[in-house]
Order: sequence, then C-alpha cells, then structure tokens
Amino acid sequence: MRKILVTGGAGFIGSHLCERLLGEDAEVICMDNFYTGSKKNILHLLDNPYFEVLRHDVTMPCYIEIDEIYNLACPASPDFYQVNPIKTIKTSVMGAVNMLGLAKRKKAKILQASSSEIYGDPKVHPQKEDYWGYVNPVGVRSCYHEGKRCAETLFMNYHIQNKLKVKILRIFNTYGPRMQTNDGRVISNFIIQALRGEDLTVHGDGSQTRSFLYIDDLIDAIVTSMNTADEFTGPVNIGNEVEVSMLDLAERIINMTGSSSKVKFIKSREDDPSRRKPDISLASQALDRWKPSVALDEGLKKTVDYFRNVIL
Ligand code: NAD
Ligand code: UDP
Repeated sequence: MRKILVTGGAGFIGSHLCERLLGEDAEVICMDNFYTGSKKNILHLLDNPYFEVLRHDVTMPCYIEIDEIYNLACPASPDFYQVNPIKTIKTSVMGAVNMLGLAKRKKAKILQASSSEIYGDPKVHPQKEDYWGYVNPVGVRSCYHEGKRCAETLFMNYHIQNKLKVKILRIFNTYGPRMQTNDGRVISNFIIQALRGEDLTVHGDGSQTRSFLYIDDLIDAIVTSMNTADEFTGPVNIGNEVEVSMLDLAERIINMTGSSSKVKFIKSREDDPSRRKPDISLASQALDRWKPSVALDEGLKKTVDYFRNVIL
C-alpha cells in the first residue's frame, strides 16, 4: 500500500482528500497543527486502521516514511491568514522547505496546493499559467501570495536541481461542506447569513468577480494530477471557468435559501482582486480531460444543505 502524507489534512480540502485517498487503498497520514482545521472534519476517519493523525507543525522538520506528499498546510481564508502574517508566510515557505526535504530523502512524489492568489489583482483575463501576475509584495495579502509564490519557486528548483517529482496546482476559489462556519470566506459567510436571516455583507459594490469550484471537482483534479505522468509538473490552474460577481452570488444564495435577508454593502477589503477566472485549457489537456462537472447552483445547494445541518 502507498503511504501518503497529507499536510493540512484536517482542513476543509485536506479532510476530503484524506477521505478519497483512503478509498483508494492507501495508508494516509494526516499532519495538522489544527490552526484552522478541526478534528470534527476527520472524526469519521479515525476508526479506519489505515488512517493516522500526526499533530505537527510543517514549519518544523519531520522524519517519517512515506511515498507521496500532498502539501496543503496553510490557512486559506483572508480573515485567518492575516491574523498572524509572519506565521502564514513561514508556513508556506518553511513548510515547503521541510516537505521538499522529506520528499528528497524518501524519493517521494510531492504536490503543492498553490493558489490563484499568486496572480494578485490580475491585469490579464482569464488567467493563464504563463501570466506572471500583478502583486503587491508588502500588502495585507502578501503573507499569503508571496508565501505561495516562493513555495512554487522552491518546488520548481527541487525538480530541476534534485530531479524531484513535483506537481504544482494553482487552485482557484473552492467551496463545499466542511468549510468553517467562521472562516469569513464568501460562500460560507453568505450561506450562514442567509440561513440566519441576517443581511449578506457584500464588500464594496459587489462587482468584483470570482470563479467557484466545487470540492469534489477539486479532489478529482488533485488525485488525477498526482497520478499523471511524472514529466508533468505544472504549474496548472484548477478552477471553474464560470465567473460570477459577489452581488450575483449574494442574490443567488438569498433566492436558493428562500431567506428574508437583504444585501448590505460594506467597506471593501484592502487589495481585493477585482476579477478572477482561470483558463483551464492546460488542465484539461494534461489531466485526462479533467473539467469541472458540478454547476454552481448544484454545488451551492449541497453546501446550503450541509450548513443547515451544522447551524440549526
Ligand atoms: P483550511 O484552512 O481549511 O485548511 C488548512 C489546514 O492547514 C488546516 O487544517 C490547518 O490547521 C492546517 N495548517 C495551517 N497551518 C499549519 C501549519 N503550520 N502546520 C500544520 N498544519 C497547518 O484551508 P483549505 O481551504 O482547506 O486550503 C487547503 C490548502 O489549499 C491551503 O494550502 C490553501 O492555500 C490551498 N488553497 C485553497 C483554496 C480554497 O479556495 N479553499 C484556493 C487556493 C488554494
Ligand atoms: N466577500 C464579500 N463578503 C463577505 C466575504 C467576502 O463580499 O462576507 C468578497 C471578498 O471581498 C472577495 C470575494 O468575496 O471579493 C471572495 O472572498 P473570499 O474571502 O471568499 O476569497 P478570496 O478570493 O478573496 O481569497
């Protein structure tokens, strides 16, 4: 059986990934410091004899026996990653150094959960992998995107210099069950506000856009990517091409939940990217014709059902 390490395995994406990998006859070690993750996300896996939880911080070296590493450890919500920006960038950079060192020692394949955030506030639309981005290196979001950019550099150079088998995925906004109720990301926020009958807090005028990918589609892409030919390293965009404004999203969620909530416009976030949409032609060509299969309304309905159970 393959021994697989998932860092950040108790988080939103990590917990779904651990679940999928256990279903594929692998032994899974979930490493997490529980900063933004939760034991609740992995409770249902604890009885599985092939699942192991390691409370460990990726900024510290780690010596274990593994064949593959999925490196997901890093807070992803802007509200959370800005609480302790120094820790956020250390997690990305020192985490990458430590996990790449482990991969090198074990000759293991390693995948990095990078982010669309490396494009910053893009001036090219939609974003292709050969666009270098437009970023503020000292802004409030820099602890996250500069950490992710540096991690990409480290991954690519370990590949070139040490012939390490790496995969770099630039993940665009992903949503679904097990997002934290308080993590401040837009879909969880809007759904919870709508279910509680509170006003939906739209930042700015709500014209800023995002493209939202349902969690199951992301997990398919992550697993396919790890199993694809070793020559394929990426970086590759993984996201949904359907672009929506935050105002449109708020209205959809109000209608879908049948809520009496209204939209409330509040102050914009500093350095908030104004448009974001992936070009996914590389992903569909390199990853076995991968493309998203869950439409936004379908994914939102599943997420609404999840949060109804969590908060009611
Ligand atoms: P999340 O916050 O739910 O999960 C992150 C996990 O990493 C948590 O369990 C947290 O406790 C753990 N963690 C944080 N710092 C750690 C450290 N120093 N050592 C060990 N564990 C640590 O976020 P998520 O949405 O599941 O994101 C997972 C990964 O995917 C992150 O690397 C994120 O940057 C990336 N990503 C997510 C999205 C998205 O839309 N969700 C988009 C792009 C990239
Ligand atoms: N946003 C919003 N209201 C909220 C939370 C977020 O209007 O309650 C906006 C936010 O300003 C951004 C978009 O929704 O323009 C996506 O924010 P999120 O935190 O989900 O992720 P980001 O893509 O910014 O990292």
